[in-house]
Amino acid sequence: MRPVIGITSKWDEEEGRYLLPRGYADAVYRAGGMPLILPFLQADTEIQELLSHVDGLLLAGGGDVDPSWFGEEPHPSLGRIDPQRDAFEILLTRLALAREVPILAICRGIQVLAVAGGGALYQDIPSQIKGALQHYQKAPEWYPAHAIHVKPGSKLARVLQASSARVNSYHHQSVKVLPRGFQVAAEAGDGVVEAIEGLHHRFALGVQWHPETMWEKDPLALRLFAGLVDAAAGKTGEMAARAEPV
Ligand code: MN
Repeated sequence: MRPVIGITSKWDEEEGRYLLPRGYADAVYRAGGMPLILPFLQADTEIQELLSHVDGLLLAGGGDVDPSWFGEEPHPSLGRIDPQRDAFEILLTRLALAREVPILAICRGIQVLAVAGGGALYQDIPSQIKGALQHYQKAPEWYPAHAIHVKPGSKLARVLQASSARVNSYHHQSVKVLPRGFQVAAEAGDGVVEAIEGLHHRFALGVQWHPETMWEKDPLALRLFAGLVDAAAGKTGEMAARAEPV
């Protein structure tokens, strides 16, 4: 049986629709998991019940997190926020961390993971980080626009089987203050945090890039999904570093 990977989605309030680019579910399936798109629930007990149906969690990309969640007022360059999605994903992430549910958090996801764990964000890289690279690329979405340096000995290094990589980049925010019990797992050349990982959790990994638009061309991107699926299946880190899924 494939482990079930719950995937969060975006909410289009005007149209009354959930939205999710299909690359997330396709990559999970390709990596050996059974993708399941999750609805927004609100109460703690509802979300606990939802989590009892999944073996792993994928926090998908999207808009900005409301900075009031980390004690700041909105910066002028803050993008569109979705209060319902923020509330659902932050509580979901806190409960998943407490239950040791394996988590892969992508783009907005790494920001949700950081805030849910007590961290904070740069609200706008171009105006808040001097000398920053271009982190909102104009190249096609599958194209790796900048390099990352992976922390030696990290879980990310083991999952990627690499000490550096090139990744795509579609973000104007990044992690400023780490959540409790996490370390930086990768940085861009300008010091912008590109990945974080839980030190005591069996698999809690956030990446600032979008592997779901890269995995068809890039084996390293698929390894992130395989790492999540293997952790969800209860396999160890050593087994997670096995060959590519077939
Ligand atoms: Mn970037």
